[in-house]
Amino acid sequence: MTSALVCGAGGFIGSHLVRRLKAEGAWVRGVDLKRPEFRETEADEFVIGDLRDPALCAAVTDRPFDEIYQLAADMGGAGYIFTGANDADVMRNSATINLNMLEACRKRRLRNIFYSSSACIYPAYNQDDPENPDCSEASAYPAAPDSEYGWEKLFSERLYFAYQRNHDLAPRVARFHNIFGPEGTWTGGREKAPAALCRKVALTADGGEIEIWGDGVQTRSFLYIDECLEGMTRLMRSGFSGPVNIGSEEMISIDDLAYLVMRVAGKKLTIRHIPGPIGVRGRRSDNRLIHARLGWAPSEALEVGIRRTYRWIERQVRERAPAPA
Ligand code: NAD
Repeated sequence: MTSALVCGAGGFIGSHLVRRLKAEGAWVRGVDLKRPEFRETEADEFVIGDLRDPALCAAVTDRPFDEIYQLAADMGGAGYIFTGANDADVMRNSATINLNMLEACRKRRLRNIFYSSSACIYPAYNQDDPENPDCSEASAYPAAPDSEYGWEKLFSERLYFAYQRNHDLAPRVARFHNIFGPEGTWTGGREKAPAALCRKVALTADGGEIEIWGDGVQTRSFLYIDECLEGMTRLMRSGFSGPVNIGSEEMISIDDLAYLVMRVAGKKLTIRHIPGPIGVRGRRSDNRLIHARLGWAPSEALEVGIRRTYRWIERQVRERAPAPA
């Protein structure tokens, strides 16, 4: 039986990953500061603890694991990582987790470790044109991420590859591009654009108005959670270390994403643009490398995942006390 350790198992991607690994028949230990917010974990063991503590990292790696997924990070959407207010925490917390986990794996001779890097490592200078961003893997250098979150991810990528060179680890490094889906943060300040837009549309009566940060022309691509899990487990079970993009090539402006959510919701709303943290002008995944190496590409259009996500967020909005739009 495959055994897997999922760090960050209480988070969005981690909790979905645990479910998938269990469905595949694996024995799974999850670790996180908190349990999953939206449903009970399916992990065989769930350790509540702080991976900034090296003793906890040593404790959770006390048995052989075929697969280790290191997803724990101090993170959030633009409202959390682009304001500057959380920079020191983001860098210190996430770097400490990665430093500790790699050292624990080295000491226990655990080799197969997946690390979730981010599209935020790509240089801002290649993402000024909303129609033509360059996010091919090789474009990462000369480095110029537009956030400290991105700089920490880049540092940690390098750390994983340094452990590969010097300590015989076999890291798999993926750069995720905007993963979304049900059971992700949808309110509270750490939510990302698809969830925030679904919430705003769900909370606004037909004919009303929603606010969007920036001019709405900025572009992104969004990958549905199940597609992400397929890409990451394929990478883990390949002999390829990466770094490699896991994302969608279907690029959409934030205004058009809002219109897509409105269509799915069956509502006509007007958009008011307001100042806010927006990040780079354009970004989309470049999947040539992952397609060539793993034969992977997303299988569904963005709209399919948005429908599922909207349905779930609309239910949250109905079932919980109303939050501000
Ligand atoms: P998430 O915030 O839902 O999950 C991260 C989890 O890590 C949280 O449950 C959090 O409690 C946990 N964590 C944080 N600090 C910890 C600590 N000190 N000890 C133990 N647990 C700790 O985020 P997610 O969307 O599931 O993202 C997972 C990973 O993928 C992160 O590394 C993130 O940076 C990366 N990533 C995500 C996206 C995306 O679009 N969701 C994009 C790029 C990269």
